[in-house]
Amino acid sequence: MEKRDYYEVLGVSRNASGVELKKAYRRLAMKFHPDRNPDDAEAEARFKEVKEAYEVLNDSQKRAAYDQFGHAGVDGQSPGAGGFGGGGFGDIFGDVFGDIFGGGRGGHQGAYRGSDLQYNLELTLEEAVFGVQKELTIPRMEECDVCHGSGAREGSEPVTCHSCSGLGQVRMQQGFFSVQQTCPTCRGSGKIIPDPCPACRGEGRARKNRAISVKIPAGVDTGDRVRLSGEGEPGINGGPPGDLFIQVHVKKHKLFERDGDDLYCEVPISFVTATLGGELEAPTLDGKVKLKIPPETQTGKRFRIRGKGVKPVRGGPEGDLICEVVVETPVKLSKEQKTLLKAFHESLEKSGRKHSPQMHSWTDGVKGFFEDIKEKFKQ
Ligand SMILES: [Zn+2]
Ligand SMILES: [Zn+2]
Repeated sequence: MEKRDYYEVLGVSRNASGVELKKAYRRLAMKFHPDRNPDDAEAEARFKEVKEAYEVLNDSQKRAAYDQFGHAGVDGQSPGAGGFGGGGFGDIFGDVFGDIFGGGRGGHQGAYRGSDLQYNLELTLEEAVFGVQKELTIPRMEECDVCHGSGAREGSEPVTCHSCSGLGQVRMQQGFFSVQQTCPTCRGSGKIIPDPCPACRGEGRARKNRAISVKIPAGVDTGDRVRLSGEGEPGINGGPPGDLFIQVHVKKHKLFERDGDDLYCEVPISFVTATLGGELEAPTLDGKVKLKIPPETQTGKRFRIRGKGVKPVRGGPEGDLICEVVVETPVKLSKEQKTLLKAFHESLEKSGRKHSPQMHSWTDGVKGFFEDIKEKFKQ
């Protein structure tokens, strides 16, 4: 089944404010709620559709993704859209239906927690290992500068709601019961805005870029999240603000690869150093260390330098730095050097000793393999 456009589902314009969205959602959710439409599959489907549309459009990140990419932007695991229900459908659900069915929420009518925000932060390996202070710019909803959050045009003021006389609640007759319900005119605030602020369309909030300084602790890795409590979007009607989550991504490093708390790097050495042994300087993230290469070192040999890895962010001892030796074949040799190498090679041949341990065992293996085949074909 083709999904309908979320704005169409809620019957609002594409630039509808949060207040307009909530109003449309409440109206439709009550109309199609299964408790009011028993055994009505059509109503149930509409209810689900309305709920889904509202969940997406009420979350500023998901809404932005939806505006840009359509359903593809919010279905499944698109970046930035997954996992953050934000101010919580659960909350709003409880509120809407709590009102109708008598549950209520005490004196907190219309107060919602603000949405959580997610910020994807790229770090260099050094920043991730040693920690860093980052200055970020976070776009989020904040109190409107023009009306200072009142939502009313300059010079005008919100007035007491006529439907509920400012109580925020009205009594409704439903069958035998008289139930208290959040006032539909003022949505529980007890006030209405006759002349809305043009800057925020009466919402009292506007999107702003906020500069924020974040301390990233030492030892974080890709996939870690830093949570800044209360730095998400502000709550509505006195509700608490949401949280800001900093999602860490560590960039690829030229020399080092990270594996848990260990760092890994390749160290190229000449075949002469590999043969005779020697000392070289190996890089670490904070300077160099001396690395002793014993004689007759082969490619792939690993040297472990204790404590030069990463100190884990959740505590515990530092990891190690693992240097893996790669023996290099010399290039750009002169005629003279080639002659010397040939003489050297002949000297090896003549000595009658096994100077290439891997090659000898490999050659023996190959020989054995072919003899086995010959035996098979004889039979
Ligand atoms: Zn305003
Ligand atoms: Zn009212």
